[in-house]
Amino acid sequence: MDYNKVTNKTVATLKEIVEAKNVLVDTDSLRKYSHDEAPLPLNVLPDVVVKPQNTEQVSKVLRFANTQRIPVTFRGQGTGLSYGAVPTQGGILLSFEDMNRIIEIDERNLVAVVESGVVLLHFRQELEKRGLFYPADPGENSSAIGGNVGTNAGGMNGVKYGNTRGYVLGLEVVLSSGEIMKFGGKTFKRSTGYELMHLIIGSEGTLAAVTKIILRLIKLPNYFITLYIPFHSLHEAIKTVPEIIRKKITPTAIEYIEKDSLLVVEKYLEKTMPHHDEEAYLIIRIDGDSEDELYAVGEAVSDICMENNAVDVLVANTKDTQDRIWSIRGSFYEALVKNRVVQMVDTVVPPSKIAEYIDEVKTISRKRKIRIFSVGHAGDGNVHLILMKDDLSDDAWTETWPQTMKQLYETAVTYGGTISGEHGIGFDKKKYLTISIGEPELRLMKAIKRLFDPNNILNPGKIFDIT
Ligand SMILES: Cc1cc2nc3c(=O)[nH]c(=O)nc-3n(C[C@H](O)[C@H](O)[C@H](O)COP(=O)(O)OP(=O)(O)OC[C@H]3O[C@@H](n4cnc5c(N)ncnc54)[C@H](O)[C@@H]3O)c2cc1C
Repeated sequence: MDYNKVTNKTVATLKEIVEAKNVLVDTDSLRKYSHDEAPLPLNVLPDVVVKPQNTEQVSKVLRFANTQRIPVTFRGQGTGLSYGAVPTQGGILLSFEDMNRIIEIDERNLVAVVESGVVLLHFRQELEKRGLFYPADPGENSSAIGGNVGTNAGGMNGVKYGNTRGYVLGLEVVLSSGEIMKFGGKTFKRSTGYELMHLIIGSEGTLAAVTKIILRLIKLPNYFITLYIPFHSLHEAIKTVPEIIRKKITPTAIEYIEKDSLLVVEKYLEKTMPHHDEEAYLIIRIDGDSEDELYAVGEAVSDICMENNAVDVLVANTKDTQDRIWSIRGSFYEALVKNRVVQMVDTVVPPSKIAEYIDEVKTISRKRKIRIFSVGHAGDGNVHLILMKDDLSDDAWTETWPQTMKQLYETAVTYGGTISGEHGIGFDKKKYLTISIGEPELRLMKAIKRLFDPNNILNPGKIFDIT
């Protein structure tokens, strides 16, 4: 599709809409918006960055871009891992960073209304002061709620609390035409025609700009404990997880980490964990409203782990020791991914199939002679795999990683899984999309995209290509 270029005249009009100080065109400023947190930056500069201050400005920018046929890419905090917020076609980068007001925390209905640029950490802190909790939990606290809606972000709390979608009650959005629409509201249930709000959630900025979000909240749990459980083998660790779930126990988080990953993270953090030469670890968090309840659940989990050949079960109940354990899992990205040549996979399989899937991953790794680290949200079947270039030659790496990724995705699908659990399809995974979904489904998706965005100006080239 042909787009028009951003000219001096375009920039002048944008400055009239949002004020000159909120329109950036110098290369140094643009550079910050040229990448997200995907391991290998694409570094594509937008032509212009626009920072709207309210919904009306978003509406005017989109109406203008649509009439001019200029691509628009939305950005929350740019912590995504799929190049979703990277302006691969240039044009306007619309950053929501200044639309960061918490509009209302309604304690009577346990609901909050926020602008889409509100940063998750700030939101959580404000809620905590009121004894409230927003449980959707992408590992990256510096992400924005609008970005979380864009990717339907998940995270470690997914086992007990689910993903972002489960907490969104309403959205204010702006269509590519500039029309402002409201979907949903403060009600907790609806049976009122097609649920268009859910089409927007997870649409990665391809259908509409999200400007305000109405979120369901819960009471802040009073107590947490963390169990750190070494196992002799990854297979044993992973196959314990469905046993826990089958006993109708729902921890807040069940994460797994392999020995190789633990050692790299230990080195990065300059600390040593107990039993650090075992093959695999489960890290389990349990929350509740009384200590007695927590310890009863902790004991039940502990018994299941020991029946499945755990080496030990270490229970942490102070904040410091729990933070120390979770810092191992939380530092995985910094230690293993950042500044290395890697590719990341975000497959998800039914939890009961994780052990078999990981066994297949090991076989693929051996056969293709490529090191694959794994870590993940074991409780909801979300397996993060990191393919390492190590000392493979550039040619060997370029040839091997795409085939390996494809095989990893195909294998996940044969186990009833899919190619992305929470990071989204973005730019780089679109070539693998049809491994997960069939042509008829893709056709429907494209028809929906055309309906919302007939000129294909919203985040073009993401999820799939429109020709
Ligand atoms: C160390 C690390 C750990 C992470 N762990 C997790 C994890 O556990 N779970 C998880 O789900 N993710 C995780 N992520 C990925 C990332 O944090 C999430 O995808 C997050 O939701 C992105 O939010 P953001 O504000 O940075 O969005 P961005 O990266 O800015 O944008 C993400 C997508 O949403 C779109 N978008 C942004 N704002 C809007 C808007 N207002 N309207 C419409 N579309 C919009 C963008 O166009 C883009 O397609 C992790 C990332 C890092 C670096």
